[in-house]
Amino acid sequence: MSLISIVVPCYNEEEVLPLFYTEIQKVMQQMQQEHPSLTFEMLYIDDGSRDRTLELLREMSLHDDRVRYISFSRNFGKEAGMYAGLEQSKGDYVVVMDADLQHPPAFLPNMYNFVKDGEYDCATTRRVSREGESKVRSFFARAFYRLMNRISQTEIVDGAQDFRFMTRQMVDAILGMHEYSRFSKGIFSWVGFKTRYIEYENVERPAGTSSWSFWGLFRYSIEGIIAFSTAPLMVPVVIGIINFVISALLIVLLIVQLLLHSTLVPVTIVLWVLFLISSMQLFSTGILGQYLSKTYMESKHRPIYLMRENEEIYRSRTQAK
Ligand code: UDP
Ligand code: MG
Repeated sequence: MSLISIVVPCYNEEEVLPLFYTEIQKVMQQMQQEHPSLTFEMLYIDDGSRDRTLELLREMSLHDDRVRYISFSRNFGKEAGMYAGLEQSKGDYVVVMDADLQHPPAFLPNMYNFVKDGEYDCATTRRVSREGESKVRSFFARAFYRLMNRISQTEIVDGAQDFRFMTRQMVDAILGMHEYSRFSKGIFSWVGFKTRYIEYENVERPAGTSSWSFWGLFRYSIEGIIAFSTAPLMVPVVIGIINFVISALLIVLLIVQLLLHSTLVPVTIVLWVLFLISSMQLFSTGILGQYLSKTYMESKHRPIYLMRENEEIYRSRTQAK
């Protein structure tokens, strides 16, 4: 017997959750017919939703004992949701997928075939098109991946997603990474193991809306860079060296000019140079500050998520009534 845990982070997903549940049920049935030794659990993470997501999960867990859920005390973000799901999952294999059907459940049988014989430790999908996404967003996404892979030792695959079918061994490795700022794309890649990429075209959401704003994504990419590269810390060093060389040459030039023509540099030029240098200094301090703030947050060792309710708490509460 092998148990497969399906971890699904949900934030305000009341519209798609019933659709997802019907779809995933079909796939689970199909897989069980093909491999009778398979059993399933679904582990939904309600990430502090403000709509009826939690009520739906409660109902689902009463009618289907394969449904487990964890409800957070507030919105902690998808990364925390995935961590909680991996931590609470019991399966020999663990699947992480979005609730919005952008990660097609129909891929699961194929993904299972890749990991079941031990040839791969992880099967995941890779978007080969960015259809349905705005041009600006695609441009910045591509630029981010190019920059990231140039400055980080950890390879971040363009188009790779958080849709993963993993062995318990890989899941335990990921859980061993306790960092508070979690950048999954980096974490999945950092732990290594053999990963099989399945390419597919982008799928749009059937309902609901993406919770990512442009600025949200921008902040997330800066976080990714800070979490998996220290190269930006070299920027102040490089600026410093270049500035030093230029100013040394200029000083020589000025002295020569003063001796030959007894002229001084006009004060406006001095002002411009001052502005330039002070902006470079602020920029450098800013980079340091980013790393310092991450170090500060990590040093607090705060929990990655806080649970308010799960299916067991809910059942015992309804039975007590
Ligand atoms: N999600 C979450 N917490 C959040 C934001 C999103 O658990 O704070 C979940 C969301 O319910 C969905 C998945 O993460 O299942 C992906 O979110 P979304 O579709 O908004 O992102 P996108 O597909 O646009 O990257
Ligand atoms: Mg989505």
